Formats: sequence, C-alpha cells, structure tokens
Amino acid sequence: MYDLIVRDADVLQFDGDTPVLLPRHSIAVSQGRIARIAPQTIQEPARETIPARGMLAIPGLINCHAHTAMSLFRGVAEDVPIEAWFNDYIWPMETNLTAEDVYWGALLGIAEMIEAGVTCVADHYFSIEAVARAVEETGLRAHLAPTIFGGPDEEEHLAQAVAFVARWNGAAEGRISAWLGPHSPYTCTPDLLARVAAEARRLGVGIHIHLSETAAQVTESRALYGETPVAVARDAGIFESPTLAAHVAHADPDDVAILAAHGVAVACTPKTEMKLGIGVAPVTALRAAGIAVGLGSDGAASNNDYDMLEATRLLSLLEKHRHGDARVMPLGEALRLATSDGARALGLGGVTGELREGLAADIALLRRDAPHTLPVHNPAATLLYSARADDVDTVIVAGRVLMRRRRLLTIDRRRVLREATRRASRLIRRSPGRMALYPAHHG
Ligand SMILES: [Zn+2]
Repeated sequence: MYDLIVRDADVLQFDGDTPVLLPRHSIAVSQGRIARIAPQTIQEPARETIPARGMLAIPGLINCHAHTAMSLFRGVAEDVPIEAWFNDYIWPMETNLTAEDVYWGALLGIAEMIEAGVTCVADHYFSIEAVARAVEETGLRAHLAPTIFGGPDEEEHLAQAVAFVARWNGAAEGRISAWLGPHSPYTCTPDLLARVAAEARRLGVGIHIHLSETAAQVTESRALYGETPVAVARDAGIFESPTLAAHVAHADPDDVAILAAHGVAVACTPKTEMKLGIGVAPVTALRAAGIAVGLGSDGAASNNDYDMLEATRLLSLLEKHRHGDARVMPLGEALRLATSDGARALGLGGVTGELREGLAADIALLRRDAPHTLPVHNPAATLLYSARADDVDTVIVAGRVLMRRRRLLTIDRRRVLREATRRASRLIRRSPGRMALYPAHHG
C-alpha cells in the first residue's frame, strides 16, 4: 500500500536543461519518497489520493537564501541605500527581537512560502533554534545556518552555533540540515572566519555566508586585506567545506575561478539586489564556469515577499536584459535554478529538487484554469511567465501534505497572522543598540 498517490497530473521533469512534460501521470509516494511515476492510473491502494487532473506537478521550489523571520520587518526600510538600510533600520530593529519573535516571524514566512509552493528554505539567522522549531512543526524542509557575527560576543556566537549544528543536523526526520553561518567577511575578522572553518571541518558540515554583495565591500576588502572577500574567505579555509555563498554580485574573473575550483555554490537573490541597487550575480557566467547556482529571496525586509516564482521570473528577465539576447536563460535553465540546481547548491542534489523515483516527495501542484494561465500552449512558459503564487493548490513535503486546496494543514493560519502582526508593531522601534556596523571596519 502506498502512503499517497497524486493522480493524473501533468508532471514536469527535465532532460538536461530542457523541460519535459509527462501528461496525465500518477505519482505514488511511499515512506516520504517518490516510489513510482506512471503514465496511467496506479491501481494499487493508497492511504490518501489526490486527484490532480489538469494540474501541473512540479518539484517543490527551493529558496536558497532567506532570513525567514524578517517577515516581521516587511516594508520598514524602503528606498534607502544599503548603508542606511543596515545601520539606520535593520540592525537597530533586530536588537529588539526575542527568540519568540523569531519563532512567530518564521511561522509567518513559512506560511507564505508553503502557499507559494516552496518546500525547502535555506535560512541564515540568529535565534535559529526558534526557526528550527517552526520548521519541525510545520513539516517544511530546511537548511539552517546560525548567524555568527564578529565582535565581543563572537566566542559565544560560535559556541552556540556549534551546539545548534550538533543538535539539529539531520533532525525532523532528516528534513533539517544544519551548517555554520558566519555572517560575512565584512562583519567577521579573518581570524574568526578561520575558527568557524575549523569547526565546520570538525563537524563535517558546510558553511553558508554572505560574500561580495556590493562593489563597496570589495573595495573595502582590498584596502584592508589586499584581496577580495572571496579570496579572504578562501584563505581563511572556508571553502575547504561545502560552501553556499549568498549574493556574490561582484566577482572578478579570479573570484569566479576560485569559486569554481572549490565547488562553492552561489545563492542569487535578484529582487533584493535590484531593489537595493547593489548589483545581481552574473548567473549565466557563473553557470558557464560550472558553479552551482540557486535562487533566494533574502529577508522580507529587502525582498518583501517569499515568492520564488517571482524570483525565478525576475532572474530570467534580468539575464536576457543583461545580455541583450532573448535566447539567454531559457525556460528550463531558469526553472532548474529554483528546483534541482537549488537543491545541488544546498548539498541536497539527489535528495530533492526533481520529480524522480527515489527522491523525496517534495511536490507542488498548480492549477491552470484561470484567465492569466490559459490557454496552455507551453506548460513551462505558463509556469515561469504566467503563473502566480496563488495558483499553487497543494504542497507536499517528504510525502506529507502541508497544503490542500490552498488550506494550510500544519499551520494555524489565523493565529500566526494575528500573533505576527501584534509583535511586529513593537519591533519597529529603533533601539540605540545595533547588531553590527556596516561596513564593519569603517572608523
Ligand atoms: Zn542575506
């Protein structure tokens, strides 16, 4: 007996970068994994059956870089440059956060992600245990990195991060993976980065870090250390463990070679980067160099939503615009960034990110019966350029149904909305304290 059968969906797979549609196929799920994908109705019994005629089954979307609990800060710092964004708004406000705030903010963000077909998020934040709790309860898959800042408390941050990884890596029936999260080379000294790198090697886990977000960070790094943030991270030994580098909007050819040689993956967050005007990673060039690239949202204080269909669409348009060539970043390549390539960037290739037998049953079902999606001449184009987050009907993670007919099954939606809204108003008071100073080494 199967645990679950999704019946008669149009199933999206990929042959290399070419999207392939399996029309009216059924997906059978057993023990959290895809046991069978068959072109007819599977006759064996199942505990649960989801009729999906007319719906598109896609691999659950993967958000490769987020600060999920920053949902509480949605819209607090608009139309300001990154220095003011950090120093005048975000860091003074984040000092107000308690672990309970982070928990409710994470629930708000997770609710939004599930409703948008996201099944896995790579989160980088402090009070990360609260995020882990929210992930465990809601059934999402997550890749969690406790943020480590340099400064007087850095030893404590590092010790807490190490304890978190030891406790949570592999937790929640294997849905949670835990890596270390040094914030960046501009907030951590090379010495601290080296200590984090040594702990990652000892624990056998990877590192999730912000790298080369702005041109100013690169200039600053060259002035201080005589090399780029990418080279600083390499020299500290960060890349000796699997590494996920967020942003990398400003990488020179030497940086790209270093990243490729060490197998460093990049999480590009196009909406945040465009909105702050800081530059977007040259994704096509990074991919051409063999670098695994995934897409992220970053926090909702800069991205304002956790809609990965939107992120994928923006990135595709941006690459076509950058190259002045409509052939750049075709449908399949773009869609893989948010699915299988994203999984690979998180070290979860072969675990999730594709609808194939043996992989985790992380699936989103989308309706295509609204004016904005009809007619469906090209299912991949409908998905990338026409579909909206609201078209997601059903979301399944590790074989468990988290949303059905747009109703969240593991989250008390009304309570989360009420509690998050209540907490948010207190948080926007800007305290005199701050998490850090941007750029950290000025003055
Ligand atoms: Zn970030």
